[in-house]
Amino acid sequence: MAQRPVQTTRGTPLVVAGQEICHGETYDLQLEYSQSYTGIDISVPVRVVAGPKPGPIVFFTAVVHGDELNGLGIIRDLMFDQPLVLRRGTVIAVPVVNVYGMDAHSRYLPDRRDPNRCFPGSRSGSLTSRLAHLLFNEIIRHCDYGVDLHTAAVRRTNYPNIRADLDDPVVRRMARAFGCELIVHSRGAEGSLRRTAGKRGIPTIVLEAGEVWKIEPGVVHLGSAGSRNVLRHLKMLPGWVDPPPFQVEVRKAVWVRADHGGILKFHNGPGDLVRKGQLLATNHDIFGHQQDEILSPADGIIQGITTMPAVKPGEPVFHIALPSEKFERLKAKVESRKGAQLHHQVQHELATSLLVEHSTP
Ligand SMILES: [Zn+2]
Repeated sequence: MAQRPVQTTRGTPLVVAGQEICHGETYDLQLEYSQSYTGIDISVPVRVVAGPKPGPIVFFTAVVHGDELNGLGIIRDLMFDQPLVLRRGTVIAVPVVNVYGMDAHSRYLPDRRDPNRCFPGSRSGSLTSRLAHLLFNEIIRHCDYGVDLHTAAVRRTNYPNIRADLDDPVVRRMARAFGCELIVHSRGAEGSLRRTAGKRGIPTIVLEAGEVWKIEPGVVHLGSAGSRNVLRHLKMLPGWVDPPPFQVEVRKAVWVRADHGGILKFHNGPGDLVRKGQLLATNHDIFGHQQDEILSPADGIIQGITTMPAVKPGEPVFHIALPSEKFERLKAKVESRKGAQLHHQVQHELATSLLVEHSTP
């Protein structure tokens, strides 16, 4: 029987890297991108998994920022540790978008531009703009939904959270389905993949989880489970969305900064619930004299934390999510996490490079 080609919702056959995609097939492809100084071809690897029946086309992208490797671990899990068996629709997975950046252990490309500010890019533009154009033109514009996988910037870690435009009901449902405890409202920066895809009618969410240069097991488990949840939500995988112990939407967050130079001892870590006025960290100078106590300015949940325990005045230490719920209600929700193994694993592992001595609130 002749294989049936996958059609995009615009009614055209799905073609990626010159390959016509057919239902029931898996393809490992290379998008020709650039050339090295020595004239050797550089390409972006892509896996396409087409289910047996028509359905949504969904992209998963990772390593848009070249040092953010957790998404690569998540896509590896989806590709070959526990390969996707779709019942309908097509997944286009790009495990490493920024191949130059990853090789150089850098967020950026060699022209020092941020790829996540250059979408949709230009065929005749800069090195970075050409990468954005290639990805957008060859993959993103054919898709119906998207998930872009990121980590915190260098010297920070993020408690896993989904960034999404919660004013868009389709995006909001996707964001909730993924299954992070924290869903942070934002429309995304101008030129970001997420915002540009959204403007073109392709609902897209971003996972921000963990830190650079690592593939963290808990983050990979959570990201893989979340990606599968999105595919269940879209009826591309069988079964139901597996919800987290609790979920809160966050429209406000605050950075807490150091006021003095010194070495920090942390009393709270990522994912912790904190009260206004609670001691978050103690700051000592090099001789052990106490310089400062860093207190929480509000009730909230620690969404991000520095992984660099030495600080100068003005440097960010904690990023605290401020859900609009009353503290007691929030506390009951966070306590419902007890016994949820995966969320405990993530919370425990994220703080392993920090000295965290928990205080009693
Ligand atoms: Zn990023």
